[in-house]
Amino acid sequence: MAFVRNGSVQRPVRVAVIGVGILGAGVGWNLSRHGAEVVFIDAGQPGEGVTNWSFSWVNASNKTARKSYFDLNVAGMAAYRELARTVGPDSWWYPSGHLRWTDDPAAEAKLLETVELLARWDYRVEVCTGAEVRRRLEPALAMPGETPVVFYPDEAWVHGRHLVGRLVGQAVASGAEHRSGTAVCDIGTGADGSIRTVALSDGSRLDVDIVVNAAGPSAAHVAELVARHLPMRREPGVVTRISCAQVPIRRAMHAPHIEIRPDGDASMVLHSREVDALIDTGEDPAELGRRLHESARHVVPELGDSRIVETRVANRPIPADGYPSVGAVPSVPGYYEAVSHSGITLGPVIGRLLAAEILSGKRDEMLADFRPERFPL
Ligand SMILES: Cc1cc2nc3c(=O)[nH]c(=O)nc-3n(C[C@H](O)[C@H](O)[C@H](O)COP(=O)(O)OP(=O)(O)OC[C@H]3O[C@@H](n4cnc5c(N)ncnc54)[C@H](O)[C@@H]3O)c2cc1C
Repeated sequence: MAFVRNGSVQRPVRVAVIGVGILGAGVGWNLSRHGAEVVFIDAGQPGEGVTNWSFSWVNASNKTARKSYFDLNVAGMAAYRELARTVGPDSWWYPSGHLRWTDDPAAEAKLLETVELLARWDYRVEVCTGAEVRRRLEPALAMPGETPVVFYPDEAWVHGRHLVGRLVGQAVASGAEHRSGTAVCDIGTGADGSIRTVALSDGSRLDVDIVVNAAGPSAAHVAELVARHLPMRREPGVVTRISCAQVPIRRAMHAPHIEIRPDGDASMVLHSREVDALIDTGEDPAELGRRLHESARHVVPELGDSRIVETRVANRPIPADGYPSVGAVPSVPGYYEAVSHSGITLGPVIGRLLAAEILSGKRDEMLADFRPERFPL
């Protein structure tokens, strides 16, 4: 555990976690377990940012462009299994695997190429037919019987808001502080440039040794408070929640033109990259939600009676080169970043690695390609 010396008195290091989505909750929970004094601060309510408007698919099969990123995501999947054993899996962890198929021959050839690559990388993957999937896994799906369907048995989906609530609740029970509905609007540094205070929009000011910027899509604004430029990419996505009497599918899936997952007993989440591409055309988000709903009903005819509850456009928190920004920024002692797309998959592993780095000062090799200093101040 890291201590700070004040004259002859030693006290635990005090960390402000700015932003309490999956990333902030993951870092703060790990820090708190290891004896740091943690203050969670959120401008809104914990887990109600992008984390609550995510497709929330825990995977590495979609992360094959760079091996180190794939490995980090595989570690993310393992970190979830460990977390479920540690905090209990109920209401947030759904390790039911993932299905993927397409109706486009070129995309199908690409998918099967990826399957071969994943198998070479020892990632568990099975190729079934549509008929087998309906018989063994998902009887409610409408799909041609001979279509190749890829099944990733180790993948999962997560109820992000419930998980954040669980992690923050445990940390608070063991002494962490939690302030919601108040934003960090200033970060004070000492004469040597190191972190000293955070000022909140409710007028209070807290003495801290360390800040973790986990502000998701607003991370660039928080970085500016320490005069750092964190370049972020703009990549919004549209997500629709629907309600139905009973959820007719058991797992998350990428079907043709639509991604679908359960979201509880009577709720489901819909998303599509094809519909995301329409966001900037000025089309009404409610209309985009209707398109998602229509596509979902083609794949799952039992959703005929379902209805749209809410549609949201959310910005993905993506550093400019598409990869996470995690770790210390050496020119601002005490300032750390935890900013990432695929943050649902990566939240628990980034939480564990970053907390260990903050407390021990040692940098983990697994984060070598994802360091903040690749974006100079
Ligand atoms: C459409 C879509 C689909 C996605 N699908 C997947 C997927 O299938 N799998 C996957 O792994 N990832 C997916 N992602 C990405 C994933 O959802 C995010 O990477 C992850 O939720 C980010 O979590 P976060 O904690 O960084 O951000 P958030 O959950 O947004 O949390 C940040 C918090 O910071 C707070 N905040 C902001 N500014 C301040 C401030 N100044 N002071 C205090 N608090 C502040 C906000 O109120 C917010 O609660 C998807 C994202 C989108 C948009």
